[in-house]
Amino acid sequence: MSERSPDTALSCDLLVIGSGAGGLAAAVTAAHLGLNVIVAEKDAQFGGTTAWSGGWMWLPRNPLAVEAGITEPIDEPLAYLRHELGDRFDEARARTFLEAAPRMVEFFRSKTALRFIDGNAIPDFHGRTPHAALGGRSLCAAPFDGRRLGGRIADLKPALPETTLWGMGIASGAELRHFLNAMRQPASFWYVTKRVLAHWKDLLVHRRGMRLVNGNALVAALATSALEAGVQIRTASPARRLLRDGERVTGAVLATPDGTVDVHARCGVLLACGGFPHDSARKAALLPHAPTGKEHWSAASPGNTGDGLRLGESAGGQVGTTALQAAALAPVSLVPRPDGSFAHFPHLIERAKPGLIMVRANGQRFTNEADSYHDVMQALIQATPAGQPVQAWLVCDHHFMRHYGLGAAKPAPMPLGPMLANGYVKRGRTLPELARACGIAADGLERTVQRYNAMVSTGKDADFAKGETPYNRIQGDAAFAAERGWPNPCMGPVERGPFYAVRIVAGSLGTFAGLQVNASAQVLDATGQPIPGLYAGGNDMDSMMAGHYPAGGITLGPAMTFGWIAAHHAAGHPLPL
Ligand SMILES: Cc1cc2nc3c(=O)[nH]c(=O)nc-3n(C[C@H](O)[C@H](O)[C@H](O)COP(=O)(O)OP(=O)(O)OC[C@H]3O[C@@H](n4cnc5c(N)ncnc54)[C@H](O)[C@@H]3O)c2cc1C
Repeated sequence: MSERSPDTALSCDLLVIGSGAGGLAAAVTAAHLGLNVIVAEKDAQFGGTTAWSGGWMWLPRNPLAVEAGITEPIDEPLAYLRHELGDRFDEARARTFLEAAPRMVEFFRSKTALRFIDGNAIPDFHGRTPHAALGGRSLCAAPFDGRRLGGRIADLKPALPETTLWGMGIASGAELRHFLNAMRQPASFWYVTKRVLAHWKDLLVHRRGMRLVNGNALVAALATSALEAGVQIRTASPARRLLRDGERVTGAVLATPDGTVDVHARCGVLLACGGFPHDSARKAALLPHAPTGKEHWSAASPGNTGDGLRLGESAGGQVGTTALQAAALAPVSLVPRPDGSFAHFPHLIERAKPGLIMVRANGQRFTNEADSYHDVMQALIQATPAGQPVQAWLVCDHHFMRHYGLGAAKPAPMPLGPMLANGYVKRGRTLPELARACGIAADGLERTVQRYNAMVSTGKDADFAKGETPYNRIQGDAAFAAERGWPNPCMGPVERGPFYAVRIVAGSLGTFAGLQVNASAQVLDATGQPIPGLYAGGNDMDSMMAGHYPAGGITLGPAMTFGWIAAHHAAGHPLPL
């Protein structure tokens, strides 16, 4: 119980702390089950990292795949996870997730504003692992009309500016291909022109784009559904501490713009504060490559400072420490902003395109650039001698730079000048000049490029097997490589100066280590017993992937699914069959 008088007290059935996918999925579900729900969000806008994300969710056996004829028994994705996670595989939890995921999708698409697009051609990350799929195991949020949020659109966190064009998010897949081909193919040019004109019109009328895509569409659809179902979403209202009655968690104290508010929640509290990507102390404890906690530049939302984990611990919850990696690692570059700060840009797209290599300060490649962000970053950490900074450079030539762009530097016709002027992109007329600008060993870089270029015509990366898995290939550019006569969709020469580089540092998309939970998302105490009234969602929940990264969407898929499960448990409703 509260020891001092709050400025106000509120009551609800379920209090959800945090407004990303983990929190909103639970809030929408609980409201549909008849609960009175309050969502408390610390930031001035809702959406968290989810609003910046690709919006992809790993959801095997989902209804869109089944409708397209992709059917597989539960044992297939289960076996893939077993092989991927090894001795960290928790069959009970994996089974719960895989059984619930299709039903969760069915609920959202039939009862809420959220619609999905299929990932039927998107392979799992590790095509060599037994039972990996070539597609059909993921979904993305479909584009969403922001006008459906009415006045609350102002409270929706916009997409990360550096990943947009004048604030316009670009949907992955076909739309992104149109943007990359706009200067070469009339159909793509026309598509992009229409899209940009519509966006400018939105900017004039609404002061922001209204065609929302990716994670921004996911949050907008969830928030619209929540508001329509009567959920209160209170922004700028961080939870400061939990309220308890004996062992039971009964609510939380919020610091709101109108003062302190005690929220009493009859059915409990769900913590979904997005893990600890910006909590230096926890990073120092759990990320070996960040001994002071500062050597890790997460691309996650800055408000995710580990509050949920601390709140959970204050009630007896335990943070898992046995994950292979405590974070969803990703190569990140630091983009200078006019105000002197740096955006943390995650490199998710261009690494697999033909004509790019990634080297360390010795000028040598160290991994398959087209592998997943998690794998690439693990390889970089492993390749970095103790005591040296974890860093590398993405290197390409002029043609690649103008065709694909490099990180936050956009392709033609967007100007490159500002990114050269602010030092984000380094340029050299020759490779040795580029090496000098970056502090890379020039002879090492020249030898690496020579060897790489010689391998391009063979189509075989004899060093790191780039382009050999279905995931590598789909991330490459088969059509463009074929036009040029390059047999490998991920390999093109780095040959025509000027040459460019962007420095990569250690980062992540979010964190994996979180509060230990049971299959109903109830937080467990040190004896393994559920703490009454306390749930964890999203990245506040110890990841079922245990630090592995088997496929794209393995944070949002479980976040949505366990949010849906937690809401049923809190409402005392059995999961629908
Ligand atoms: C560029 C990018 C692309 C990505 N793409 C994908 C993808 O396609 N698929 C995928 O699975 N994952 C993706 N990720 C990772 C994914 O976005 C995150 O893992 C996921 O969004 C986490 O969801 P969440 O609900 O746990 O946290 P968030 O979405 O971060 O929400 C947490 C919220 O809690 C709030 N909060 C924090 N403390 C408090 C407090 N004390 N009181 C109240 N509120 C609080 C925060 O402000 C935040 O709004 C991507 C990440 C990035 C950066």
